[in-house]
Amino acid sequence: MARRAGGPGPAEDDELSESERQRFRALLERLRDELVETGDVTLEPNRVDAADVGGDEDAQPLNEMSQAIASSRNRARTGSLHLIEAALRKLRESPEDYGLCEVCDELIRRRRLELLPYARLCVRCKSKREDPRGGARKKLTDFV
Ligand SMILES: [Zn+2]
Repeated sequence: MARRAGGPGPAEDDELSESERQRFRALLERLRDELVETGDVTLEPNRVDAADVGGDEDAQPLNEMSQAIASSRNRARTGSLHLIEAALRKLRESPEDYGLCEVCDELIRRRRLELLPYARLCVRCKSKREDPRGGARKKLTDFV
């Protein structure tokens, strides 16, 4: 087999090979298992029994606060769980779309997928989204 000029390994702009997809799938499944095993991911919006807090008014604000903290943690977890499930579904149903940015259709860099196998956007679209004003610090020419 001819070796590509870029050296060993796939070039950044190569489509993912079947074996790479399988590797990312394994990565995603492991992440999902870890999230599920750590427990308190729940689809029930409110597991704390309100009756326990009942008449004790002093306990209420603290309880609400810790509940808010717990639920924002849960949201973060269920959020990435949701992304992981979506990525796994994509690998199952339209594997050729996996690893492509959902905005610009460019391949997401492998290095990024290694860290975030459930990434849906390439770095460029992601940073555009996070900083919609953009122009303030980055000029269009910075990307050329
Ligand atoms: Zn993109």
